[in-house]
Parts: sequence; structure tokens; C-alpha cells
Amino acid sequence: MAARPPSEIVSFHAHVYFTAGAEAEAARRLREQVAERFAVRLGTWHDRAVGPHGRPSYQIAFGNELFASLVPWLMLNHGGLSILVHPNTRNPRRDHAEDRLWIGTPVALDEAGLPDHDDNPESAGEPNTTPTMTP
Ligand code: ZN
Repeated sequence: MAARPPSEIVSFHAHVYFTAGAEAEAARRLREQVAERFAVRLGTWHDRAVGPHGRPSYQIAFGNELFASLVPWLMLNHGGLSILVHPNTRNPRRDHAEDRLWIGTPVALDEAGLPDHDDNPESAGEPNTTPTMTP
């Protein structure tokens, strides 16, 4: 089977998971720290499980060029939170279920409902953060 080229990857998501209480506090702090340091698109804060995500979460959408700086930063600063990092290609189900990586402890996902084909893989979109400090 031919190797898949990384050019299949249009962008990445990091999904930050939390439960109510101390974890939500840590997730809120992490969100602020990311916004201060990285030109990313922060998604809606979900206080309950949405889509394939089995617990409250928010999304960080980012361009491929940020992977090498943002992902190591999250590895060192996740504060015990579980974070799913996945590529966005033409196969959302595979992106989430097979080609992902975890920072912290993996949490259950319900990926069965995700489509296995998408002609328009999600781009990172315009950043909605305005970083004021370097990582
Ligand atoms: Zn995602």
C-alpha cells in the first residue's frame, strides 16, 4: 500500500476535555494561555458532551505550521487534562479514531457517527486569538 503523504492534512484540531469543577478551571486557564501564545482559532466552550466527544470540551483549530510549536507546548502544559490531537483530511472518522494522538489520559470517543468521507476537509480558519507573548 502506498504511503499517505502528509499533504493530505489540511489542518489540525486539539480537543481539550474536562469535567466540572477543578478540571474546568484548569481548562479555562489553558485556553487563556494558548490564546496569549498562539495564533489559533478557539472553538465554542461546551459544558456538555457534543458530537463524538464523550465529555465537555472545546476545540483548538490550528494550521499545520503551528504543529511543531503548539503540540509540544500542550504536552508540557496540559496540567493533567486529556487532549485529543487529530489531523483534518478527507476522512473525519479515520482522523478521530485511527490517526489521532493523545496528550494525557485517553477518553472514550463515539466516532461511529463520523463520516468516512468529506470532500472539503476543514481548514484551520482565521485565527481568533491575538497572541501577545512567545511560547
Ligand atoms: Zn476535531
